[in-house]
Amino acid sequence: MKVGILGATGAVGQKFIRLLQGHPWFEIEALGASERSAGKKYKQAANWIEDVVLPESVKEMTVKNCDPAEFDKVDFVFSGLDSSVAGDIEKAFASAGIPVISNAKNYRQDPTVPLLIPEINPDHTELIKTQTFSKDGSGWIVTNPNCVAVPLSIALKPLHDVFGIDSLILTTMQAVSGAGYPGVASLDILGNVVPYISGEEPKVGPEARKLLSTLEGTDLKKPDFAVQATATRVPTINGHMISATVKFKNTPADIEEVKAAYANWKNPIELLDLPFAPKELYKLHEEEKYPQPRLHADWENGMQLHLGRLRKAEVFDVSFVAMAHNTIRGAAGGAILNAELLVKKGFLK
Ligand code: NAP
Repeated sequence: MKVGILGATGAVGQKFIRLLQGHPWFEIEALGASERSAGKKYKQAANWIEDVVLPESVKEMTVKNCDPAEFDKVDFVFSGLDSSVAGDIEKAFASAGIPVISNAKNYRQDPTVPLLIPEINPDHTELIKTQTFSKDGSGWIVTNPNCVAVPLSIALKPLHDVFGIDSLILTTMQAVSGAGYPGVASLDILGNVVPYISGEEPKVGPEARKLLSTLEGTDLKKPDFAVQATATRVPTINGHMISATVKFKNTPADIEEVKAAYANWKNPIELLDLPFAPKELYKLHEEEKYPQPRLHADWENGMQLHLGRLRKAEVFDVSFVAMAHNTIRGAAGGAILNAELLVKKGFLK
């Protein structure tokens, strides 16, 4: 299939370009960015920050304006657009009959738009049928969650299924790549921790509740658990870490019962053979010093969820840390996996 990338010059856009090299189903056909970049060769428009050589196949491509008329040869687009412009541009593409697989926050809480993690809520793709962006239904939008909501919701899913979440308190330790490029000023972050990330905390609870909803007809029945989140920026490069303590509706008897919930959980996409799906979704580290972002964020091509420090809590029921690669599992890689699921389900053809 021929794909376009909107926001192709940004940090997430570059990750799309890197991850799509050699993809068995998807081939990059067109790249779009702002009018600052449009008309230039990609190698001139982008400040390439990936630690591999800029692929020959995109080097000489001319960057386009993010105008659907310039993307008439693509089957669908991935969007890594800045949220200040993603709302209007993504709507214009969907209205023009071009499906959009987005990373931006703009449509995540739209009741007709799936907020999708294939392993967690693959059935939510049915919401696409209720969208009215295009007259004939050929254009639609699917979003992937915020890069904290991704590891949090994957970590919680097997526990929510068995014990039911009542409430949780969490603190994040977020890598600098999550702020895009140039991102956080070096004088703010080197040898330092910044205890606030603008706009981050209010997304965590609503996105986790939407992801863990059950689909009833065309409505999502959302769980009612409360989330108290503190988002901090730390001087790691890739991999967002979360320290969480959870209270359940049905308290597990001991930590073995919690481990059994993970061991017994059935991955709904296990048999679909999606190229970007990790072979083993959960890596439960028994060593107390793990997981660590620098050592583990790249495992399984950056698509694995790392769990550690699983223990009985003195306050609430269970504590753990969770960690995943923020620009792969939490952004471009997650979006590619979403597109693969949408191919298997027949929405992308
Ligand atoms: P970024 O590095 O700032 O890139 C933003 C992109 O948007 C650039 O390609 C830029 O093009 C383009 N853009 C800006 N204004 C535009 C306009 N008026 N018209 C068309 N294109 C325009 O940001 P990022 O970190 O890649 O993030 C991209 C999106 O993904 C954001 O919505 C972000 O919240 C989300 N996200 C990021 C992460 C992460 O870990 N970084 C994780 C999950 C989700 P120019 O180069 O031409 O300006």
